[in-house]
Amino acid sequence: MDNCIFCKIAKGEIPSNTIYEDDSFRVILDNGPATKGHALVLPKEHYADLFEIPEDVVAGAVKVAKKVASNMKEKLSCDGLNLVQNNGEAAGQTVMHFHLHIIPRYENDGQHILWKPTSPSAEELTAVKDTILGA
Ligand code: AMP
Ligand code: ZN
Repeated sequence: MDNCIFCKIAKGEIPSNTIYEDDSFRVILDNGPATKGHALVLPKEHYADLFEIPEDVVAGAVKVAKKVASNMKEKLSCDGLNLVQNNGEAAGQTVMHFHLHIIPRYENDGQHILWKPTSPSAEELTAVKDTILGA
């Protein structure tokens, strides 16, 4: 992908604050962080999203995230941590190169990454289940 900023960053063609790198992934600090340490796991190969990325690559991204998250817990003394991964504009994806957010959380950090729960009826939940299962 010639025009993809994350391809260029992942391959080292554009400088970044890299906190982890191996043959397949680069982890960079987000330049608009939700909290101190907010990082992005970038595969070096271009895949737009979860639907395109092969299973073994996404599994590798989660392994890398676990390693980086453990290091953050120790070094940043965060109180919690969110893994977030957006797919499609409707879900908030703004850069169309698969990336996994690692967001360290701190007591009273003022961020709101959780959703507002709704209250479907039992029948509505069953209908969703049946749709997903193709019943
Ligand atoms: P998303 O909304 O899931 O697509 O997330 C894209 C993220 O990439 C946002 O959190 C941006 O702050 C971050 N971002 C965009 N461009 C850069 C860049 N050049 N370097 C670091 N982070 C970036
Ligand atoms: Zn790309």
